Amino acid sequence: MRWTEHQQTLLQAMGLRLWTPPGATPDAAAPAAAAEVAIGPVATAPAPVPAMPTSAAVPAAAAPSPVQLPSPAGNLDWPALRTAVAGCRACGLCETRRQTVFGVGHPNAHCMVVGEAPGEQEDAQGEPFVGAAGQLLDRMLAALGLSRGDGTPAQQVFIANTLKCRPPRNRNPSPEELAACRPFLMRQVALVQPRVILAMGRFAVQSLLDSDAPIGRLRGTVHRWQGVPLVVTYHPAYLLRQPADKAKAWDDLCLAAELLARPAQP
Ligand code: URA
Repeated sequence: MRWTEHQQTLLQAMGLRLWTPPGATPDAAAPAAAAEVAIGPVATAPAPVPAMPTSAAVPAAAAPSPVQLPSPAGNLDWPALRTAVAGCRACGLCETRRQTVFGVGHPNAHCMVVGEAPGEQEDAQGEPFVGAAGQLLDRMLAALGLSRGDGTPAQQVFIANTLKCRPPRNRNPSPEELAACRPFLMRQVALVQPRVILAMGRFAVQSLLDSDAPIGRLRGTVHRWQGVPLVVTYHPAYLLRQPADKAKAWDDLCLAAELLARPAQP
């Protein structure tokens, strides 16, 4: 669809820039879902749009280098990894979970989203991000023409969490739990071989970048995890509490979309 002038004025007034798919003219930009993007922002002033960082710029034809994996998930294929996760008893969360939450999406997705941990609904349904935060995540992805549902590797993301089990009462993951679950996440990344990782929230960042720095300091730059370009952004649950930061999250997604639009190395 085309953005109407009215929509463009509204989006710009909200501090949102339009994302233009490669090859499209700006006013023809954005997939249909973008018109309904309720991700956005409630910022009163237009948020600055971060330029593509040059210091950490990703070479145009960058391809992820092979991921080195620790045991115990080192060589597992998808079915074996799924079985290993389902039977995991590496930390105390196995005592309180209803089921493990493995992840969902395309096994070779170009974009891999990494969240925190299952909540109550995810623990009940066995799928990540199915609650209110997940609905916001789906709308954000839809604005870029991405979804967790069917599609090509370019259209369908893979969504995983740093923890595969729900912490009781949704408490924060402990460092020990993050460490115990990390090999599973690493193996998932190695199998997916994404072109871009979108790390949402501080526990994804802790697990992948081993950093305690605040999201506000890490976002806006392209990091790398095992050679894979990694974009840091706010967790959707945080955005539900702090809607004024949705404009920044949108900028982060646009940065990820720019990386995804770059040609892959042959
Ligand atoms: N928050 C997350 O980080 N992951 C989920 O699966 C649900 C909520």
